[in-house]
Amino acid sequence: MKNPCHNFSALAVEGVRTLQPYAPGKPIDELEREYGVSNIIKLASNENPLGSSPLALAACQAAVRELQLYPDGNGFALKQALADKYHVDSSCITLGNGSNDILEFVARVFLSPGANAVFSRHAFAVYPLVCQAVGADLNVAAANAVDDVMPYGHNLENMRAQVNAQTRVIFIANPNNPTGTWLDASSLESFIRDIPETVIIVLDEAYVEYVTEKEYPKSLSWLQKYPNLVITRTFSKVYGLAGLRIGYSLSHPDVADLLNRVRQPFNTNTLAQVAAEAALADQAHIERSVTANSDGMQQISTAFKLMGVEFIPSVGNFISFRTALPEQQVYQALLQEGIIIRPIGNYDLPGYLRVTIGSHEQNERFLQALMNITGTKA
Ligand SMILES: *Cc1c(COP(=O)(O)O)cnc(C)c1O
Repeated sequence: MKNPCHNFSALAVEGVRTLQPYAPGKPIDELEREYGVSNIIKLASNENPLGSSPLALAACQAAVRELQLYPDGNGFALKQALADKYHVDSSCITLGNGSNDILEFVARVFLSPGANAVFSRHAFAVYPLVCQAVGADLNVAAANAVDDVMPYGHNLENMRAQVNAQTRVIFIANPNNPTGTWLDASSLESFIRDIPETVIIVLDEAYVEYVTEKEYPKSLSWLQKYPNLVITRTFSKVYGLAGLRIGYSLSHPDVADLLNRVRQPFNTNTLAQVAAEAALADQAHIERSVTANSDGMQQISTAFKLMGVEFIPSVGNFISFRTALPEQQVYQALLQEGIIIRPIGNYDLPGYLRVTIGSHEQNERFLQALMNITGTKA
């Protein structure tokens, strides 16, 4: 080694030097290794407790025989299936290695030092990461107050006020993770209408399939009207394919063409493509998952109320809450019981934790453990 004491950090580009990597939910194996506990349940990453669609698994099994071949770099069949399902042209679709990949494409295509991106406080943690990595400024809008009907939710007026001549991208999570708050069609469309067409609006709909609110936007109908709109969706959540890493965006074809330029030629793999295509057609699995989720949401929120646990009403497959104890203490105590959830103090929500809605039994185990830890009863 020539220079073992070199300060490599000084060599890194400025955005990367100060970047804090994303903190994912603790993997089950890691908890097993570190704590020696078994019979672990993970309710930390908004995964589907019902698992993947059986049709997706069968498609994967058939495709494992061809793993010596590169995937279709254009993802023709999956794009066609998405185009058919959503009545868009396949030139509007960009496939990503998770929708996280798409968020990164947007940042690399539209942001640079001197430009800024607007998003809300308590918004999904990946937005600041992808923007900082390309050296762009972060214009963070104040969120709704705690006593709002949508506590900690995106405040569109405040977001609008953060938009200036250097703004190139706005990130909106609807519903937002980790708050589970959402924006209705009419307020969101007025906001979009008011934004100059030169600003890309990313509408992150990772949990769209779970939302049953009548006023929730049917955003696909906006694509024709607002060419600066990029809608991102994923197979990681309701489709139960988080481990395969596959997501997509719908946008104007010219925007898709630009995103495609920074995409790795084979960013989505063979198994992910065939599984996603099969999962897309398995409406029964989606319906089972959505029903199980609303039952579980009911189960947990009812217990929270009885326990006097404060929570943020959520339309997703997760719910954020706080007890009288510090969040790290609750998190650690649950880990001891083999239950992984997520402390979210790092989202500017001190005291809060987020739990994914699990199966009935998993929810029961979580609630029982929480009652023991906090000394409350439901
Ligand atoms: C989970 C999540 C995503 C993306 O997940 P991928 O697995 O990368 O598709 C995007 N946005 C939000 C708000 C999420 O919670």
